[in-house]
Amino acid sequence: MNHIAPKKLFIKTYGCQMNVYDSDRMADALAPHGYMPTQDIGDADLVLLNTCHIREKASEKVFSELGRLRELQTERRATGGDMMIGVAGCVAQAEGEEIARRAPMVDMVFGPQAYHRLPDMLAKAEANRHLHPALRRSVVDTDFPEEDKFAHLPAAKKDVTIGRGLTAFLTVQEGCDKFCSFCVVPYTRGAEVSRPVAQVLEEARRLADAGVKEITLLGQNVNAYHGEDGSGRAVGLGELAYLLAEIPGLQRLRYTTSHPRDMDDALIAAHRDLPFLMPYLHLPVQSGSDRILKAMNRKHTSAEYLALIDRIKTARPDMALSGDFIVGFPGETDADFEDTLKIIRDTGYASAYSFKYSTRPGTPGANLTEQVEEAVKVERLARLQELVNQQTADFHASCVGKTLPVLIERVGRQAGQIGGRSPYLQAVHLDGSTDLIGAIHDVEIIGTSTNSLVGRLKQAVAA
Ligand code: SAM
Ligand code: SF4
Repeated sequence: MNHIAPKKLFIKTYGCQMNVYDSDRMADALAPHGYMPTQDIGDADLVLLNTCHIREKASEKVFSELGRLRELQTERRATGGDMMIGVAGCVAQAEGEEIARRAPMVDMVFGPQAYHRLPDMLAKAEANRHLHPALRRSVVDTDFPEEDKFAHLPAAKKDVTIGRGLTAFLTVQEGCDKFCSFCVVPYTRGAEVSRPVAQVLEEARRLADAGVKEITLLGQNVNAYHGEDGSGRAVGLGELAYLLAEIPGLQRLRYTTSHPRDMDDALIAAHRDLPFLMPYLHLPVQSGSDRILKAMNRKHTSAEYLALIDRIKTARPDMALSGDFIVGFPGETDADFEDTLKIIRDTGYASAYSFKYSTRPGTPGANLTEQVEEAVKVERLARLQELVNQQTADFHASCVGKTLPVLIERVGRQAGQIGGRSPYLQAVHLDGSTDLIGAIHDVEIIGTSTNSLVGRLKQAVAA
């Protein structure tokens, strides 16, 4: 494909960090075909919506966004220009042909397993543009490929991958075989697949060479990672952490999201042995009621979760925990909800995400009849969030007076201020020179604000 002038690509990303990573890979895949990223949608020759299916009414939100894009496309054509539109991600995977039918001005619809085929789809869609409008059809690709999509995606490049340049996401695992009864992920992202160890290490080395200091490994169930090494042996996330710790220049490792059932001894040992592995763990439990956990098909009890937390804290006593909670799962009684508040009190979270249950068509949960009233869900969510917010505030307050290593990443909002992250993923602000950006410095925590810590520089630590 030869383009005379560079074209502009605008990607709107919804949802999780895995989508952020995927959007960057799509930009990488299109760069050799002349598409350069723009932040201005009005300027774009190609607009991609990288959608997320996890939230309520996700599809309707995409259709209303497409309505706005159609107006933009019409305006553009009225002045002799054009704008192509693609819908990617989990809504595209779930709705496929329905998007093509309801929004025929969309040029491409493709699921998360098809990103490496994006240049081919684009070539087909560009050829379609020359057809009479009545003959045009959206190019739809929602197949799950046999081949390894990561092997076909271009390697991560510094400018598009790493935002501010010091931290980066790296997807190591995709899909899920757990089939929690509320969740669409196994249907939209497909079966659980892990990238081979050598591929992950190579991408991590490239990122480190480009100046990245902290990598967050991503996966729908990242601790189910079991990538093959050169001899065909499955390597778990714990062992992978030791291998990544050897990469020169890389100073911090994080991973998200984990499932309690995949938190094995090797990974817990890695937390004990590797200061490089940050003491922050996002380990959703969803509910504290064994009855609801069973109905959710989580395959663990609340006692097993708490015993796991004990083992993790024995290995790494300062581990900060984060979680996800769903309130109002069908059949959830007041007593079940009280069990959820109890597990939150027993665990003690540094942060947590919480959601009102909402039905996802096609999931087993959609067949459950005992729906909880909206007003009850609203009230439970508010009570849960109040408890978690208090725990977050207590956790921040417990840091005051301590000295924490902070990766200084950016200029602060106020003049003379810089900001970064503590090992526990808290935002930290302090006064200091921009020369400090890019390295880890010891910072004494002197106060807190709603969502962050306030610090004072202690001493420089060798980068
Ligand atoms: N794999 C992770 C795990 O097992 O914990 C979570 C992945 S899911 C993309 C992110 C979160 O969205 C879930 O942990 C759950 O709390 C929430 N979620 C998923 N489906 C939901 C639904 N139908 N209603 C409300 N919240 C939902
Ligand atoms: Fe969804 Fe996570 Fe359950 Fe998999 S383990 S089905 S991604 S909630």
